[in-house]
Amino acid sequence: MKKSITLIVLVISCLQIFGQSTQYWQQHVDYTMDIDMDVENYQFTGKQKLVYTNNSPDRLNEVFYHLQFNAFQPGSEMDIRLQNVPDPDKRMSVNKGTVEHPVFESRIATLKPNEIGYQKVISLTQDGKPVAYNIFGSIMKVSLNTPLDPGMKTTFDLEFKGQVPLTIRRAGRDNKGGVALSMAQWYPKLAEYDFEGWHANAYLGREFYGVWGNFDVTIHIDKNYTIGGSGYLQNPQEVGHGYEDPSKKLNLPTGDKLTWHFKAPNVHDFSWAADPNYIHEKVIGENNVMLHFFYKNEPDIIKVWKELPEKTKEILTFFNNNVGPYPYKQYSVIQAGDGGMEYAMCTFISGKRSFGSLVGTTAHEFAHSWFQFILASNETKHSWMDEGFTSYISDAAINQVLNQNKETPNIEDYKNYFNLVYSGIEEPLTTFSDRFESNLAYERAAYSKGSIFLSQLGYVIGKENLEKTLKAYYDEFKFKHPQPNDIKRTAEKVSGLQLEWYLNYWVSTTKFIDYAVRSVEGQQIMLERKGTMPMPIDLKVTFEDGSSADYNIPLQMMYGHKPTEATVLESWSWVNPIYTIHTDKKVLSAEIDPKHLMADVNREDNSLNH
Ligand SMILES: [Zn+2]
Repeated sequence: MKKSITLIVLVISCLQIFGQSTQYWQQHVDYTMDIDMDVENYQFTGKQKLVYTNNSPDRLNEVFYHLQFNAFQPGSEMDIRLQNVPDPDKRMSVNKGTVEHPVFESRIATLKPNEIGYQKVISLTQDGKPVAYNIFGSIMKVSLNTPLDPGMKTTFDLEFKGQVPLTIRRAGRDNKGGVALSMAQWYPKLAEYDFEGWHANAYLGREFYGVWGNFDVTIHIDKNYTIGGSGYLQNPQEVGHGYEDPSKKLNLPTGDKLTWHFKAPNVHDFSWAADPNYIHEKVIGENNVMLHFFYKNEPDIIKVWKELPEKTKEILTFFNNNVGPYPYKQYSVIQAGDGGMEYAMCTFISGKRSFGSLVGTTAHEFAHSWFQFILASNETKHSWMDEGFTSYISDAAINQVLNQNKETPNIEDYKNYFNLVYSGIEEPLTTFSDRFESNLAYERAAYSKGSIFLSQLGYVIGKENLEKTLKAYYDEFKFKHPQPNDIKRTAEKVSGLQLEWYLNYWVSTTKFIDYAVRSVEGQQIMLERKGTMPMPIDLKVTFEDGSSADYNIPLQMMYGHKPTEATVLESWSWVNPIYTIHTDKKVLSAEIDPKHLMADVNREDNSLNH
């Protein structure tokens, strides 16, 4: 254990200056890993040195690791969960019944010993001395020899043996498209400790949370394999495979294996994929970001993927302009895994798909570089902050780069959310991502209701304020772990409006919005809040003389209104179900929220003709 007296003094003086222990802090990791991969039997050995810095104000007596490959074993928590969820993921299960009467069987339950995944700890030391640990499936608890005090560092040396499972979900061997190795969640990974304590959540297939730090990873692998992944390759001339500088001489070693050395600074995960039959293409995007593409050298894959680089450049520019500049020098789109999944500085995307689907998935996964890999919210707890925000911004990007010209790019999310409300299976967004009662309830909540959080926020505070909020949120919270209150607080600072109610209703409850025009009589309009969640109201009124007017009715607890050209009326308190407007002309019709940005679950009654 190394002592860092300056840091202790700093921490103490910060406490004195601010008189509290709630100053933002985050833990730090420095991984150095040396991996020897056996591509014949999908096994690997690893040596991992982890220097852990405790920036918290707390003395730590234990630490937790994720051993996520252990989830791919019969009887694991992931397997049991798969057998009990009402709507199992099709990738992870087989239907042994009929279409009408499906009987799903967990694919994990059928894995043979040479097909399962594992991470076996061979040895573990803390500062050179063996340390006690207990393994609970995909989580390892390490009881420290010496407690780790605030401001201190300690070094863990871990030797492990791994086996890459058949591809069940995200990671694995020989995926559907025939990619040999999709190496995600593949190494013993320290769990995050933050102001809430440890987040030692078992791997059940969904969403992650990691410690910010630096990765130095060396991989020895069969010389025919090309690797794509997180991190900058340090020795391109000794590896080739499309990484080399063509103006310099290649210096390939003799022997059956190549040694690949990667460094990934300021990330919270490290993933890679490898295949002996990858095409490796590169293009330069905005701000000299090198975009890498790895895909199978097969005619039907090439046909679709060869058009992707130019679109990816446009997508990068869109996110740079609408969220904030991509901070790394490299990003890789890799044919691997299943569906699409985001990782540090790269994504795994399954290969065979239409061009529209490939561009759409790339936009979604690349957007995650901002919402999760730079703005690293705890996805396990707040899946809506990464899946929802990602869906919102990637729908906007797709709308632009594929010239879709939709007025509301995330219109599908509104439909999905309404169906969720009517289905009766909705759960609050505060539900842990793996703990929703069904996959459908999770997906509709995290992706659709999460996406609407932003588009509807644009309705509440104004479109330009929403755009400023996203950029300010990025600037303030990049390379940190933003919390739900941080996006709300940013929106408050940008708009000058109070939004505690919005965060609470939309995220912590399943209360819903339903407003109605109750009556239009002469020069009087009566509005009614039928739903359980209050909102400010945009109202379009047409008069009998053919003229029309736009009104805005602020919600009283916002203590203000969005910038608007509409006539702003008296605010409406949530306690009152009825609101009456008197006009100076006879009213023909009135319509609530004519732009359909408010997620009103019944729009039938939103307009009324006299
Ligand atoms: Zn996503």
